[in-house]
Parts: sequence; structure tokens; C-alpha cells
Amino acid sequence: MAVGKKEIARRMQRFEDVCRRRGLKLTVQRAEIFRELAGSNEHPHAETIYRRVHRRIPAISVDTVYRTLGVLEGQGLVRKAEVLAGPVRYDANVKHHHHFVCTRCRLVQDFSSPAMDRIPVPQAARALGKVLSCEVHLRGICARCAGREGS
Ligand SMILES: [Zn+2]
Ligand SMILES: [Zn+2]
Repeated sequence: MAVGKKEIARRMQRFEDVCRRRGLKLTVQRAEIFRELAGSNEHPHAETIYRRVHRRIPAISVDTVYRTLGVLEGQGLVRKAEVLAGPVRYDANVKHHHHFVCTRCRLVQDFSSPAMDRIPVPQAARALGKVLSCEVHLRGICARCAGREGS
């Protein structure tokens, strides 16, 4: 479930590269907020990120976290995962991927699927406008919840 060490290192490297290239200050707060997301597969809410970073940096404010997430999103380092109603969740996986949403515990998990990437856009959808991206959100009961039910 956890993000692999190598992937976290890759994301942190990209974060530093982007900051340097765009002239964004590499502050400790910024780095810690990004690190929190880079190491998570859970698509956490801004409030959750705030609570976790606050343990390491007690001086950080919730405003800073929201503002920083906005900056990171503007730089393409994180994105919003708009799969469930409610407060916005963030995703440090900016590669094209799909989501499996558990309707019981509301866990949102990533998966990739070349087959789903190739789903042709139907004429009925094309008639509605220009399609810019296509992501699949599967809803179901996650393995953890299903296991709990079975026992
Ligand atoms: Zn679940
Ligand atoms: Zn995701």
C-alpha cells in the first residue's frame, strides 16, 4: 500500500528540479508538505496533510498548507483527486492513472491499465465537447473491507 522508497525519491527529485527551474524557494515547509503527499497513496485531504506535517513543524499554519498545495498544483507536482464528494483530496501521482474507490471506507487507490487508457471516446461523448482526458473511477468494496466482511 505504501509508496516505494524509490518512487518517493523520484518524486522528491522532481519536486526539487521543478522548484529550482521555476525559481520557487525550497523552504522546509514546502518540502515537508510535498514529502507528506509523495509518500502517500491515500489521496489525503488538505486537513490530513496539515495534521501530519504539523507534528513535525508545529509552527505551520493550515493556511500555509492550503496555499502550498495550490502552488504545488500550479506547478504540476500534485493534482486534485476529485473522485468523491466532500473536501478536496490531493494526489502526488501525476502520471496518468485510474482510481478504485471503496464505497464503504472511502479509500481511493491508484491503478494503471494500458487497456483502459485506450478506451475509445464514444461518439455520444464527443458530440458533447472536446475530450481532454479520460480517467476511469471504479467503485466497489476494497480488499480490506471485503476481508473484514468474510471473517
Ligand atoms: Zn474499503
Ligand atoms: Zn490517484
